[in-house]
Amino acid sequence: MHSAPEIKILLVDDDTFMLKILTKMLNNLGYASVSACDNGTDALTRIGQADTRPDLILLDLNMPNMDGIEFVRYLVERHFPGSLILVSGEDERMLKTAEKLVHAHQIPMLGYLHKPVSPDKLSEIINKWTPPEKQLQQESEKKAYNAPALKSAISNRELVNFYQPKVAVATGKVIGAETLVRWQHPTDGLVMPGQFIGIAEQNGLINDLTCLVLEQALLQARIWQENGIVLRVATNVSMDNLTSLDFQDLVVNLAIENGLSPQNIVLEVTESQLMDTDSRVPLEILTRLRLKRFHLSIDDFGTGHSSMAQLRDIPFDELKIDQSFVHRAWADETLRAMYDASLSMAKQLGMEVVAEGVADADDWAFLRRTGCDFAQGNFISTPLKAEDFEPWMQDWENRVHNGLIANSA
Ligand code: C2E
Ligand code: MG
Ligand code: MG
Repeated sequence: MHSAPEIKILLVDDDTFMLKILTKMLNNLGYASVSACDNGTDALTRIGQADTRPDLILLDLNMPNMDGIEFVRYLVERHFPGSLILVSGEDERMLKTAEKLVHAHQIPMLGYLHKPVSPDKLSEIINKWTPPEKQLQQESEKKAYNAPALKSAISNRELVNFYQPKVAVATGKVIGAETLVRWQHPTDGLVMPGQFIGIAEQNGLINDLTCLVLEQALLQARIWQENGIVLRVATNVSMDNLTSLDFQDLVVNLAIENGLSPQNIVLEVTESQLMDTDSRVPLEILTRLRLKRFHLSIDDFGTGHSSMAQLRDIPFDELKIDQSFVHRAWADETLRAMYDASLSMAKQLGMEVVAEGVADADDWAFLRRTGCDFAQGNFISTPLKAEDFEPWMQDWENRVHNGLIANSA
């Protein structure tokens, strides 16, 4: 049983009277650390700071500027580690749909409360809850790195590329690899990109970072090619890389230097970053790269909010369905609906589709029934060091050859 006073609760509701009532109810239940925001933007600021980050959020669905659904999307982007209760005057069906959406984003949701909220129902939901202490602890243990440290890591070439295979769903053939950067820290071990990509973007270091990642990735592609393995090698590109034409020159020159065909070089841009940009420059750079036959991929599809028209305007070759809509899509109607919609939209626009986050044999079996082109995920392989890639590939191809992969479907 947790101790109520230590739990930080945040109420988000545009109705300030509601905020007062809920605060009072929670105080009566013994929760002393309750804060309230009457809009999503202020709430996100509190969530962004370690000292004000709540363990539990009570969220109103209907709010004028940022509504509850949009708010949830931002929680996902910020990797919010806590739990959620939805509060709304909407009918049961609406609340159920919203609940499914929250689950699809893999945020623990304790339940929903109808307005007017009854103290008994509130206490019932909250008392069932055990706060994710371990997770919170891990989160706070995560070290924050500063820009000078990252800068010297880049110049000391402490960043190493890992490669995660992409395979054809129908045949199991290995068709490519996505480059995922890690920081081999001299004292902290392997640091994941979630802990430093944002810092690089915010401190003008992302060009140097991407340059190093690309250099190493294309050199690796050349080594594979010399060993008779032709793979499409993908790297992740940040929107901040696409602000000057130097980026285009970098990609073109590296391809030429390493004797690689542009078709075998894939640039992944996340959907959310793409749709948030106002400027035409990044879109122009992408279009030019596409004209030179480099492959463009839209990453984490489903987590942004692009329209069909926006997608048609930028000639993407590939769409990657975000892992939150792939893993367990076979077991959940809402995930399945998102997955199907993304797949059919991509097909209509003539794009190839990669399902990300294929984590187990059930996910793989599901993909084999749906006509998805390519798959990537821990079921196939976790991201590998360059030297482990070829041995893995041997082993995988043997398994495919012996029918082990198809049989697991
Ligand atoms: P992403 O591009 O969507 O990459 C896929 C992420 O999903 C990787 O996390 C990968 O390890 C993880 N993943 C793969 N299969 C599974 C699975 O079956 N289950 C689960 N739960 N996860 C799986 P990682 O390596 O931590 O990278 C996170 C994100 O960091 C990437 O997401 C990408 O957006 C960004 N990133 C990585 N390298 C770079 C880079 O060089 N430049 C930029 N700008 N961003 C990068
Ligand atoms: Mg990616
Ligand atoms: Mg992704």
